[in-house]
Order: sequence, then C-alpha cells, then structure tokens
Amino acid sequence: MLPSRTDFLIVGAGFAGLTLAERLCSAGFHCTLVDRRSHIGGNSHDEYDAHGVLIHSYGPHYFRTNSPQILEYLGRFTQWRPHVYKVQSWTDGRYWSFPVNLKTFEQLVGHRASEEEFAAWLEAERIPIDMPRNSEEVILSQMGRRLYELFFRGYTRKQWKLDPSELDASVCGRIPIRTDRNDAYLKEQFQCLPAEGYHVLFDNMKAACGERLSLVLGVDYRDLKDSVPHRHLFFTGAIDEFYKYRFGPLPYRSLRFEREYFSAGQLRERLPVSGKAGFWQPELQVNYPNDFEFTRIVEMKHATGQVCAGSTIVREYPADWELGQDPYYPVPSRESRALYERYRALADGEKDVTFLGRLGTYKYYNMDQVVAQALKVAEDTLAAHQPLI
Ligand code: FAD
Ligand code: UDP
Repeated sequence: MLPSRTDFLIVGAGFAGLTLAERLCSAGFHCTLVDRRSHIGGNSHDEYDAHGVLIHSYGPHYFRTNSPQILEYLGRFTQWRPHVYKVQSWTDGRYWSFPVNLKTFEQLVGHRASEEEFAAWLEAERIPIDMPRNSEEVILSQMGRRLYELFFRGYTRKQWKLDPSELDASVCGRIPIRTDRNDAYLKEQFQCLPAEGYHVLFDNMKAACGERLSLVLGVDYRDLKDSVPHRHLFFTGAIDEFYKYRFGPLPYRSLRFEREYFSAGQLRERLPVSGKAGFWQPELQVNYPNDFEFTRIVEMKHATGQVCAGSTIVREYPADWELGQDPYYPVPSRESRALYERYRALADGEKDVTFLGRLGTYKYYNMDQVVAQALKVAEDTLAAHQPLI
C-alpha cells in the first residue's frame, strides 16, 4: 500500500537507493523506495537458480574496496567471506594466467623466468607514452602490442563495440599488471563476498530501515510520483531517461546472460579440463578475448564456496542497448561525457531532485564507490533536513 505522504521518495533499490534509505530511515525520516524490478538489490542481486546453485543474476559482482569505512558500514548487514577472485584468459587454444603476470610471461616464452627477465622484456615491448589518453595507449604503454592484441583488443571491441582507442584510459587501466606471480584479478585491499549472498545483505538493509520504509516493487516511479507527496526525490535510475532523452539517449552497453547447469556426473567427465572436482572450468572466471561471441564465462561456485554436487556457469554476451532494455554499462568515452555534461547541467539546476548511483551520475562505478557516494548524499541530507512526520 502506498503511504499518504513521505519525507523522501527514492527511485531504485540498488546499493545506492538502499544505502540512502537505510541512513535516512535510521535518522528518523520516512522514505518510500520504489523499483520497477520485482526484487531489491538492483544489478547486484543474487539468487538460487532452479538447481539450487547461488548465482549472480546480472553478471558477476566481486565485492572489493580499499575503504575500511565502507567495509564496516556494509558489515553491519552481513558477515564477509574473504575471497581472492581468480580469472584466466582463453586464447590461441589454451588457458593463460591473467591478468598479465610472471606466469603469463612464462607461458608466452615457454620456460621458467625471473621477475628481472620479465621486467626487461616489458621494458623492450612497452611503447613509451607519458600520459596515456585512452585504453589502447594505457595497455601499449604498460606491456606493448603483443600482449595488447592477445588479451585486450578483441575483448574490448566485443564488450564495448568500440576500439580501445575510443575508450577512456580508466576502462582497461583498471586491470592490473604485475611482474611477480600474483595472479589476483583485482588490486583492492579488501576482497570478499557477503557470506550468505547479496540478497541476504539487502534484506538486512531493508530490515534496518524498519517501519519508516515503504517499499514498492514492480512499479515505475512515474506511476506513483504524483500520488506520494514528498519533500525531495532521490533518483538512481538513468539520468537521460529522467529527462525523457531531451538531448538524445546516452550510450550504454547491455548484456545477455546464458545459464547452463551441469550435474555431478557431467562435472566428473569435465575433470580433465577443469582440473577441479565438482567444477566445470578451472577458475571462477574465464575471459574469451578472441573466440566466441561471449566475453566471459563465470562459475560463481568457485567464489561463493557453496557445497553442492552440480554447478551452473553463465556465459555473458555483450549487446547493443535499446530503449526499454536494462542499461548495464555507461560507456566511458569523450563523446558520452560531453553528452552527460548537458544532462548534468539540468540536474545541477534541480532544487528538489538529487541524482546518484551508477546510472544517475553516469559513472562506471563499482559497488563500493556507489555506497560511498550514497553515504555522502545521506550525510548532506541529514545536515539540511529535520524529520517532520
Ligand atoms: P543499480 O544496481 O543499477 O540499481 C538501480 C535500480 O533502479 C534498478 O534496480 C532499476 O530497476 C531501478 N530503476 C531505474 N529506473 C527506474 C524507474 N524509472 N522506476 C523504478 N525503478 C527504476 N561492481 C563491483 O563492485 N564489482 C563487480 O564485480 C561488478 N561487476 C559488475 C558486472 C556487471 C555485468 C555490471 C552491469 C555491473 C557490475 N558492477 C560491479 C557494478 C555494480 O553493478 C554497480 O556499482 C551497482 O549495481 C550500482 O548500484 P546502483 O544502485 O547505482 O544501481
Ligand atoms: N578487458 C580486456 N580483456 C580482459 C579483461 C578486461 O580487454 O580479459 C578490458 C575490457 O575493456 C573490460 C575492461 O578491461 O571492459 C574492464 O574489465 P573488468 O573485468 O573490470 O570488467 P567488468 O567486470 O566491469 O565488466
């Protein structure tokens, strides 16, 4: 049932909307949180599939952060399961250690090598570029053309339908390169998953809001905004959609997910490939830069630690985004930034609306960055408003 009035109307029940709702409700405000999906958690949602395997519904979500504050804040709603996320790359008919590290180099040259040998090789391969301006330049300047073509160019073109030279340096620049044998996919200090899954974390955030929260699922905010009087609107959906695409749609990439379940017997037959009993592939994630139409296959059981006989893999196919589809990725490029700035100028002029989250601010943000942004917005809101009802 809709409340007759509320302090704040929050659109989108992902990490941004839930964090804001929890902070504001805990401070005595009444919030109405609306999402057009049938569940909370936004893109970070996870669930048990028909075979009882815990999977990430909208692509793999590896929680990582360098911020003890964010870890502590979310830790109020979940126990953590530490996990170092591991990825391999499949190209030229074999698995490669990835991201590029000493083991990758040894596979390339076919013999055991030292850090010094690899560093010297990189020095010779690397193309000196002082200030890399795009994703091609950032990889060429780190490791040269051979590794760029082996691992980056094809994957990036598939994922973004753009050449790496057309994408911000930060896109490929977020992948580490190391001269030692450390093959962790990520570089953040804290890497962990909610021990019982993201859906439990989100349920606990919702519970912490208490009765001051009215949650409305399966409804577009446009269908209720006029029936719920509110003091301020927080919008975590797509900013261009909010403004009815006044300047034209911002570019997004979409995704299609293909799930496949394998029984214990099928996994036994797969053992020569996976090398691990009970799994379909050797690591949590395998990237396919140069083969197939999908970019990666994820087998989440490696990271969740779930004990179950079968396993589910998810193939991820990049897709063009069209109006009405889920806009998964903002596209970090100079052109998209210029268009976003026009929408942001409109947003800056709003007194009663604040935009936040990955889509609201059109930023390729990770979960911890979105939580940090929402905590800041909550803090500013608490400084500016007193509870009325
Ligand atoms: P979202 O989670 O997108 O939530 C926005 C919500 O708003 C949605 O539920 C949507 O239904 C709702 N909404 C929009 N418009 C309306 C409307 N008009 N009316 C009602 N509801 C509306 N981050 C990491 O830290 N690690 C990872 O490994 C990682 N992997 C990712 C993999 C993929 C494939 C993708 C797409 C993202 C990944 N991310 C990852 C990023 C992560 O998903 C985001 O940082 C996070 O979900 C952003 O939260 P949010 O609340 O801003 O947005
Ligand atoms: N990337 C690549 N090859 C890989 C992995 C990543 O070229 O094997 C590039 C690609 O452009 C990708 C970006 O690096 O979009 C960031 O990769 P990440 O795995 O962080 O992507 P996400 O999980 O955000 O989709």
